[in-house]
Amino acid sequence: MREDQIFLLPGPTPVPPQSLRSMSSPMINHRGPAFKEILEEVTPQIQKIMETKNDVFILTASGTGGMEAAVANFTSPGDKVLVASIGSFGERFKKICERYGTVVDFIDFPWGTAIDPEVIREKLNKDKKREIKAIFLQHNETSTGVINDLKAVSEARGEHPALLIVDAVSGLAAGELKTDAWNLDVVISGSQKAFMIPPGLAMISVSQRAWEVAQKSTNPVFYFDLKQYKEFLSKGQTPWTPAISLFYALKESLQLMLEEGLDNILKRHRLHRDMVRAGVKAIGLELLASDEVASPAVTAVIAPEGIQVNAIRSLMQNKYNVALAGGQGKLKNKIFRIGHLGYVKPTDIFAALASLELVLTELGLKVDLGVGVRAAQRVLLERSGENAHTSQ
Ligand SMILES: *Cc1c(COP(=O)(O)O)cnc(C)c1O
Repeated sequence: MREDQIFLLPGPTPVPPQSLRSMSSPMINHRGPAFKEILEEVTPQIQKIMETKNDVFILTASGTGGMEAAVANFTSPGDKVLVASIGSFGERFKKICERYGTVVDFIDFPWGTAIDPEVIREKLNKDKKREIKAIFLQHNETSTGVINDLKAVSEARGEHPALLIVDAVSGLAAGELKTDAWNLDVVISGSQKAFMIPPGLAMISVSQRAWEVAQKSTNPVFYFDLKQYKEFLSKGQTPWTPAISLFYALKESLQLMLEEGLDNILKRHRLHRDMVRAGVKAIGLELLASDEVASPAVTAVIAPEGIQVNAIRSLMQNKYNVALAGGQGKLKNKIFRIGHLGYVKPTDIFAALASLELVLTELGLKVDLGVGVRAAQRVLLERSGENAHTSQ
């Protein structure tokens, strides 16, 4: 079997060759100067990507570990919290919060739509006693392909003291996120999405307000105790043995990211989003999310009437070597998802759209071959025209 594939999942994402190669370097002492150098190089670079001066820590954990670290450090049992959910990862936040004994007010927005900041504003306005301690939400909801307007949610919070705790695992470095300018108290990310490295690291930023809450938390936290991370970071270390190989890859990928520049990275993700959406629409398929809230990281496509999602995905994989994701939770068997975050290039999207046209034809749908590819090409051409124009 071929080892390479056109890998369009919303995580893990393709890893650049230089990052992959770096992972075959020998081990180093994680209590020695070589690891300290790496940690002290990548930490401020992640702060740059998060647009923050807040403390940032890198945990050896999947993204969910980062979510759990946030709940464990910044809540206490019995706290009232809001979980604003627009999909499967919102439900995950609810489960973690409940497991830690918080009292969750779960706001379940329809899947495929974004958070309505007015609903948050109303909830907080009614909370005269300031009992709500935190608001948990996603930056980008990977299960539905919707991006939330974090700035608007932050404005809706206003002067209310509740912490704003954001799962930006799939959204960071794909869609705009300004931690400091938008007063986001805790931002969580993960390695296997736009950071373009394998799964296994989670990043988390902590505001001063969040630290004050953490000091008073009564949760029995150990592995994820961020106070330990802070103490060890001052020595250029992590409290426990980190996934050293992933740090090698992180260093390479961050170098690539900073060479490209955050603005260009975000622009590239918008381009890929618009290419995919134009292509899929031209083929005649329906998208789950509207253009206004469309994710720059992943696009959810509704399977055409009478055609099984699994049939599409397995033909894409087996015949054309293109990996796509299925639906999660209540969208299982209803949608498939095309990831376009991280180390993805326009030709990957052309290949995916061309293959999708063939697969759908084979499954009995009437498709004007080339129509999706052509629509995506036009978007690319228009954008490169704009870039040529503005760079003059
Ligand atoms: C991928 C992802 C996570 C983390 O999932 P893990 O499988 O634990 O890495 C969390 N939130 C969102 C929105 C994600 O896309």
